[in-house]
Amino acid sequence: MNIILHGPPGAGKGTQAGILIAERGMIHLSTGDMLRAAVAAGTELGKKAKASMDEGKLVSDDLMIDMIAGEMSQDKNANNIILDGFPRTLRQAEALDEMFESRGITLDKVVVITVDETVLFARIENRATLSNVVRSDDNADILKHRLQVYHENTAPMLPYYDNRGLLVCVDGMQSVDIVSGHIAAFLDE
Ligand code: AMP
Repeated sequence: MNIILHGPPGAGKGTQAGILIAERGMIHLSTGDMLRAAVAAGTELGKKAKASMDEGKLVSDDLMIDMIAGEMSQDKNANNIILDGFPRTLRQAEALDEMFESRGITLDKVVVITVDETVLFARIENRATLSNVVRSDDNADILKHRLQVYHENTAPMLPYYDNRGLLVCVDGMQSVDIVSGHIAAFLDE
């Protein structure tokens, strides 16, 4: 089963991906994690992406599509994938379809975790305060911008999947266990 885990920043995608990895042995492809690793390693990709990331803007489609295609080509047999943070634009969604088609695998579900935006601010502020690894894009001003980017670029992409009957929404305002239970029920439908 191959899925996209979708939702605004702070919705709990990383936590839910961790549960799916532990319970179903899924392979987690998080473009945010890959980009942060590239920045930390000082690669060319990291250098190109850093400014956009720090400002809460989207990194260019070309860079993102190349990066995820490169990652997928490393394990040609992978067919139990969670995409987290990708696609974020319609162009990326179309490129992902082509990648799946050329590998002969299907996209089975797009799980959207929805949350109230005031709660998102509290979560991000909490993450910035408590985390040992403070992310350079975890603060209220940048979050506002990231949410705006989400509404402008990413949320409008959802009908692309809804029209194909792939979209399921989970209320992310509930406890981690309840959210993961709902996701499991959707995946087992
Ligand atoms: P995330 O951890 O998924 O919230 O990603 C952190 C940052 O990485 C985002 O705010 C963007 O700057 C960049 N990024 C991650 N994934 C993508 C993507 N699919 N398209 C464009 N930019 C991305």
